[in-house]
Amino acid sequence: MRPTFIADLHCHSVISDGTLTPEELAARAKANGVQLWALTDHDEVGGQARAAAAAAANGLDYLSGVEISISFLTQTVHIVGLGFDATDAQLWHGLQRTRGGRAQRACDMAADLARVGITGTFEGALTYAGNPDLISRTHFARYLVETGVCKDTYEVFRKYLTEGKPGFVEHRWATLKDAVTWIRDAGGVAVVAHPARYKFSATQEFALFTEFKGHGGQGVEVVTGSHSAAEYVTYADLATELGLVASIGSDFHSPTESRTDLGTLPALPTQLTPVWTLLHDHIQRAPAASL
Ligand code: AMP
Ligand code: MN
Ligand code: MN
Ligand code: MN
Repeated sequence: MRPTFIADLHCHSVISDGTLTPEELAARAKANGVQLWALTDHDEVGGQARAAAAAAANGLDYLSGVEISISFLTQTVHIVGLGFDATDAQLWHGLQRTRGGRAQRACDMAADLARVGITGTFEGALTYAGNPDLISRTHFARYLVETGVCKDTYEVFRKYLTEGKPGFVEHRWATLKDAVTWIRDAGGVAVVAHPARYKFSATQEFALFTEFKGHGGQGVEVVTGSHSAAEYVTYADLATELGLVASIGSDFHSPTESRTDLGTLPALPTQLTPVWTLLHDHIQRAPAASL
């Protein structure tokens, strides 16, 4: 059964590692029945004005969005921000610093891949990066598919670019405290993205959520393209136990790569408090349709 209210608060455009423009995403979200949308590019809010305008043009309600990379314990964790002021100076500056290490990391990734005989990957990945400031592992993955090293991006991440595999380079991102503070100070709500994706022990996961809440974090993604149906239940229970609001988003990147399209996930479990209940005044409302 199709949900009666469709929100999709997690996806990526060419401004980070998606393949569609903000305008193409807004049109696709509309076509798929989305009513409340957010574009959440990695470490970048440069697409927010275009996304908000495209949302209005397509009759979608809009929340500003971002997905910030942080380092927590031994891992990279993603914190989604929603409903913040997208022109906030502290947030812009913090994100600019977060993006800053990506070029050096990409050089080191290319050098590591060259050691196993895969050459030219920096230049190759760069041709896929719509925003040269935001060269990501996804752009390397697309190049490795294009050159026939792997059949799809899933195979790339199984064989390369992840911990212990060729092309993986350790990186220090922002801190949990910084990311949550930037989002909160800009008037938004911070959300732990796709928690089932991290390889934490139960104790480490508890530490993540405890610190997150301590810094003012308020939400968790429960229904996401990265979770199984069993994981929806696990994280619905966690949201209830910890008193967190719940978010939902496909994490859509590309029509040819993503397994979950915009607006196609099941609704949030009804016992949860959706994140937008904290953000009613921050929703950029679509103009009423003309009669
Ligand atoms: P980066 O921010 O450069 O570390 O790139 C991370 C991006 O790679 C994620 O946002 C996903 O879009 C993509 N990705 C796809 N599969 C995986 C995977 N198995 N592990 C990590 N990243 C993945
Ligand atoms: Mn991504
Ligand atoms: Mn993510
Ligand atoms: Mn994402």
